[in-house]
Amino acid sequence: MLPSKADVVVIGGGVIGSSAAYHLSKRKMSVVLLEKGGLVSGTSGACDGLVYLQSKRPGAHLKLAMESRKRFDSLEQELGRDIEFRAHGGMIVIETQEELEAMRLFAEDQKESGLEVTLLEGKQARELEPSLSEGILGCTYSPLDGQVNPIALALAFLRGAKESGAKIFPHTGVTGFSLQSDRIIHVKTAAGTIETKKVVNAAGVHAPEIGRMLGVEIPIKPRRGQLVVTEACAPLLRRGLLSAKYIAAKYNPALAETGSWAYPLSRPRAEGFFSGRHGSSSALTERPRGVQCNGLRFKHRDSSLRCGISA
Ligand SMILES: Cc1cc2nc3c(=O)[nH]c(=O)nc-3n(C[C@H](O)[C@H](O)[C@H](O)COP(=O)(O)OP(=O)(O)OC[C@H]3O[C@@H](n4cnc5c(N)ncnc54)[C@H](O)[C@@H]3O)c2cc1C
Repeated sequence: MLPSKADVVVIGGGVIGSSAAYHLSKRKMSVVLLEKGGLVSGTSGACDGLVYLQSKRPGAHLKLAMESRKRFDSLEQELGRDIEFRAHGGMIVIETQEELEAMRLFAEDQKESGLEVTLLEGKQARELEPSLSEGILGCTYSPLDGQVNPIALALAFLRGAKESGAKIFPHTGVTGFSLQSDRIIHVKTAAGTIETKKVVNAAGVHAPEIGRMLGVEIPIKPRRGQLVVTEACAPLLRRGLLSAKYIAAKYNPALAETGSWAYPLSRPRAEGFFSGRHGSSSALTERPRGVQCNGLRFKHRDSSLRCGISA
């Protein structure tokens, strides 16, 4: 049964809501987490879990990522659960001269912001990752990049939150609020109403829907990402690997649509960063191309597969 009151109501049972519930309940606040579907059934249950610093633009984004990365050094011990965190380093692989120049500038700016990142030539990249194609011109490399199991991480936060007294309700969507003098006093669900003065909107891509219930426009525009899961095969790579084209598309989504080149050779600043062709069938490594073309069965990682997980 829903409690009638809480210090804080957290909306969303993904990694962000779970983390908020954990950290708030550890600070002795009474917390109720409401999730409209299954726990970790949203984006957090359908992503690849890279803990990447190199992909972040200098500024608030990189600073937050660096602070977050520090937490991972002791998080597994603190949560007392295996979250499968591996600090194996990561690469951003470069295929063209334009990407090389753009990544050189990007990495220089990141270094100025305190990130440990190096630009490596093709030969050095292949020494680290022998299965990289001969066509690779180079890569940026950071030993700080890593990977975590995002579902294990969110569930560990949820369990930690529960142990500190948080109440967690899957399949309980927030339907509205009641206000008094422009302040929230109740959170409404089909299962009942909770009195509270504080709400954390951790509804991910649905955060704007929650905002609209309160007349607030939240400028989040969802962008679809997809993962392809192959049949199990022997490990091919030792560390995380992204393409410089992905980084280009990330900071200029319009390019992902048009596939055109538009590359400023000046130092990247503010909006725009650099841009590049996205979505080409680049052969970053020798084997995955074969793997992908040889008719192995692919499964989209679908968040619906993640329903039914309990904390
Ligand atoms: C294919 C793909 C790969 C990615 N890879 C990476 C990666 O490698 N590294 C990385 O850092 N990030 C990655 N991301 C991004 C990352 O997954 C997200 O930033 C992160 O999971 C967002 O977590 P969240 O808790 O904000 O949202 P979610 O996990 O989506 O959680 C929000 C929850 O809110 C719930 N909700 C919505 N409306 C309501 C309501 N009215 N009432 C109650 N609950 C509600 C939803 O059901 C959902 O479970 C990737 C994303 C995708 C799509």
